[in-house]
Amino acid sequence: MESERVQVINGDITRLDVDAIVNAANSSLLGGGGVDGAIHRAAGPDLLAECKRLNGCQTGQAKITEGYRLPAKKVIHTVGPVWYGGEKGEPALLAACYRNTIQLLLDNGLREIAFPAISCGVYGYPAEQAVAIAVSEVEQALEQHPQLKVIFCCFGEEMESLYRARLQ
Ligand code: ADP
Repeated sequence: MESERVQVINGDITRLDVDAIVNAANSSLLGGGGVDGAIHRAAGPDLLAECKRLNGCQTGQAKITEGYRLPAKKVIHTVGPVWYGGEKGEPALLAACYRNTIQLLLDNGLREIAFPAISCGVYGYPAEQAVAIAVSEVEQALEQHPQLKVIFCCFGEEMESLYRARLQ
């Protein structure tokens, strides 16, 4: 259920003043389109400079950087799976993105995080299935970590209604 600890909003994740926003990055961590491009544009060139030193990131894993010009303190970059039909481990990899990202947030002593719909853009993950995984992983984490607060930041009303329906 939506509550003070889990919220759904429709808007641009780069505008959020939270401890960390999540970037749906690609494995090079060198920038791309979609939310990745928006985050790099808003954060400025220092973000790319730091990302270049990280040696990429594997699918399902996560790495943290500063937020630079963003209102958010940190960016956690995670690489979602490309959708190949669902038989290539996509669900487990997407779940790992949420789990590893939240773990990294907590390891850094932070508590409030905003997620975009990882893999639901050019990576082609069916939105309803991705939302089910996102909500299930976040609900488990909220139970385990009383300090955690999560925002699902959707880019469009269609995605927003999928999250709201799933959280009921
Ligand atoms: P992926 O490669 O993981 O599919 P995309 O960036 O293509 O990543 O898309 C992931 C999701 O992020 C999509 O639902 C897309 O609509 C959304 N998105 C794009 N720009 C923004 C933004 N500025 N803020 C929040 N979400 C965004």
